[in-house]
Amino acid sequence: MTEDNRIITPEMRLEENDQERTLRPHSLTEYFGQQKVKDSLAVYMQAASERREPLDHILLYGPPGLGKTTLAVIVASEMGHNIRITSGPAIERAGDLVAILSNLNAGDVLFIDEIHRLSHAVEEVLYPAMEDFALDIMIGKGPSARSVRVELPRFTLIGATTRAGMLTSPLRDRFLISFRLELYSPEELAVIVSRSAKILGVECDRDGALEIAARSRGTPRIANRLVKRVRDYAQVRSDGRITLEVAEQALDTMEVDRLGLDRTDRVMLETMIRKFGGGPVGLDTLAAITGEDAATIEDVYEPYLLQLGFLMRTPRGRIATPLAYEHMGLTPPPTDAEQTRLDI
Ligand code: ADP
Repeated sequence: MTEDNRIITPEMRLEENDQERTLRPHSLTEYFGQQKVKDSLAVYMQAASERREPLDHILLYGPPGLGKTTLAVIVASEMGHNIRITSGPAIERAGDLVAILSNLNAGDVLFIDEIHRLSHAVEEVLYPAMEDFALDIMIGKGPSARSVRVELPRFTLIGATTRAGMLTSPLRDRFLISFRLELYSPEELAVIVSRSAKILGVECDRDGALEIAARSRGTPRIANRLVKRVRDYAQVRSDGRITLEVAEQALDTMEVDRLGLDRTDRVMLETMIRKFGGGPVGLDTLAAITGEDAATIEDVYEPYLLQLGFLMRTPRGRIATPLAYEHMGLTPPPTDAEQTRLDI
């Protein structure tokens, strides 16, 4: 199965652009969870406003769908400035970035998603822009070429990445503030589910919201997607209200289990257990089993399985833990101590 038809993928699908816009919170008070990040941000924003200065550059990292873009949009709006949203792969040439930077106004926020994917040439333009709010532009060619410095308005760069480790150190060092976004707890996600249901005009009781939340892999984007699918189910198969029973039936039909694992997760765990004795299994083998690429498994699917304690990363590969066996209804192999006792 490919990623595109997985309902629990945390990455945005093209057709979801409008949904994201309607459900996106517009202020820090509507942005649930990530309390530590919000508390620190609120202090930094107030301090910068009082000094009438733009915020320092901010790096946000963590798995997709956790609210990095949303947070950047909120920061810009709370600071009373505009935001320009782009991404690493979209800025192909240094000239593209020069054009974007030259069009910013003082205080504006520039949001670059997947910032680890900027090319070297583009990064070179970004360094003086971040540090000195200036561009070094080469004029002329050959021996007569010279570099001219052009001042830029003071802006705030917010970079987002799923892989902080892939950022070059000169780039990472230029972010004075950096936050790691964590997967959300089911209780936090239940609040997001209830808010989204209200915006979508569907009644959803607390148990229904908690059930959807528990199956959303700690990720608001997935929670919002599941609310929409369960709403359809409630409308066609029931009286339109989302209750515990309706949520359970709808999500079971979609083969999203009680912990939010779908068929691909289960095939992966089951193959690891049955064919490889629980592991260690290399990332490339997992990629072959699931039909996903290795980077997607590492950035997108593994964080949740690691958080559940179903997988362990070791230098020799991934290992399925006894918790994974239990969830799959299989008996874990005996521990070393138990094995010794059996051998005696
Ligand atoms: P990322 O940039 O990390 O991939 P987004 O900011 O695009 O994630 O968030 C995906 C969707 O999840 C948004 O459209 C928004 O509706 C919802 N969302 C994310 N974080 C929150 C939050 N803390 N509270 C409410 N909704 C959220």
